[in-house]
Amino acid sequence: METIKRTKVKDLLKSEPGQDVLAKGWVRTKRGNKQIKFISLNDGSTIYNIQIVADTSKFEESLLQKITTGSSLAVRGKLVESVGSGQAVEIQAAEIEVLGECDPVRYPLQKKDTSLEYLRTVAHLRLRTNTFGAILRIRHNMAFAIHKFFNDNGFVYLNTPLITESDAEGAGDMFEVTTLDLTKVPMKDGVIDYSQDFFGKRTSLTVSGQLEGELGATAVGEIYTFGPTFRAENSNTPRHLAEFWMIEPEMAFYDIADNMALAEEFVKYLVQYALDNCMDDLKFLNDKYDNGLIERLHSVLGVQFQRVTYTEAVDILEEAVRNGHKFEFPVHWGTDFQSEHERFLVEQHFGKPVILTDFPKDIKAFYMKQNEDGKTVRGMDVLFPKIGEIIGGSEREASLEKLEKRIDEMHMSRKNLEWYIDTRRFGTVPHSGFGLGFERLLLFVTGMANIRDVIPFPRTPKNAEF
Ligand code: ATP
Ligand code: MN
Repeated sequence: METIKRTKVKDLLKSEPGQDVLAKGWVRTKRGNKQIKFISLNDGSTIYNIQIVADTSKFEESLLQKITTGSSLAVRGKLVESVGSGQAVEIQAAEIEVLGECDPVRYPLQKKDTSLEYLRTVAHLRLRTNTFGAILRIRHNMAFAIHKFFNDNGFVYLNTPLITESDAEGAGDMFEVTTLDLTKVPMKDGVIDYSQDFFGKRTSLTVSGQLEGELGATAVGEIYTFGPTFRAENSNTPRHLAEFWMIEPEMAFYDIADNMALAEEFVKYLVQYALDNCMDDLKFLNDKYDNGLIERLHSVLGVQFQRVTYTEAVDILEEAVRNGHKFEFPVHWGTDFQSEHERFLVEQHFGKPVILTDFPKDIKAFYMKQNEDGKTVRGMDVLFPKIGEIIGGSEREASLEKLEKRIDEMHMSRKNLEWYIDTRRFGTVPHSGFGLGFERLLLFVTGMANIRDVIPFPRTPKNAEF
């Protein structure tokens, strides 16, 4: 084939007709008659395909037969104005090379629609569907926008460890990391002798980079982490993964109000970025899965998120129950909200995103700043329509004395946390931070219903395939 530079489909669709072009990609469909074949080619650069028009008299029958759904092609030809393809341009094929054949009998993704559940069992082909193409491009755009937002605001990207000896906050059950031979675990005085393990201590995969993040923030001011997080929660919900990505900004000199303002500005920026840069893919997902998607994205931009305390929210929920609303789980002061409660507040009561603050201290982590009432702490959860909690954060306890007292009250080991407590011992400052679950954000932005469908290789209980 004549050597000209390949043009991506995304760029071809915007190009002026008349030029000689080279396209490469995978066949989505082939149709036509004896004289002429129409081939839809997609290369993953856009949700749209480029139409290839092949005059059958110019090509060997044996070559045309190899062009089946899923096969890969290089096509050189003239870009011409299109009459019927629904696109402005198409390629009049001059040369076609089949790069990789695709046995139509064995190929599991035929034209007919296949369910998302089924697709999870064919990981390699799943990513080649229109749906996953859209999701992967949106996921990439959101990751890029996250780095851009923080970079533009002067935050430092901090890499916190994935292997840790601290259970950050009791945020979730942890996966243990060990090189001990599990068929003959060394014991000493009736317990596992971790001194013989790789690190000489019991270690696990991290559930949060926050504690290390606080060390970064109290050194360079404003940091964020963006990395994988592991929680062995056996919950099997459409909103939990065992391995997910989390973004955790941590800021010195921010109080809870500054923290809320940043969280609101941040998620609005990301939603706006998606609307500005991913519209083709959003339209596809809107039409195929969730007709309210684009409207919902716009709806969070035009409003100020409702700030409400946990105590006020309990009053609202109890009032709703008195008025006949049925929740599956009971609600009273002191309980952690379930997603049905969160969604009631957002979707039915306020009709906009909600930032809940000032939770009972007993349902929150040891590091949250204690309020003067002795009962509540300055935590904040950002709740979104359709999802419930998307962000969890707090102002951190800056007082050495109060922090140590709380660690003792919660029967945690001060000794293991000395490295962290030192931030309060030497030049402590007010500071705050939060964690945004990347896949929860993507659930909102893509409108997908199951968190497994916004990550390329989901890890959930009993599933770590591929
Ligand atoms: P939830 O109550 O929904 O389990 P959480 O209180 O355990 O959340 P945090 O510990 O505050 O959550 O974690 C911060 C953020 O990380 C959450 O707001 C959510 O967006 C995300 N997140 C937490 N657990 C998971 C998970 N298992 N899979 C995906 N995202 C998660
Ligand atoms: Mn959880």
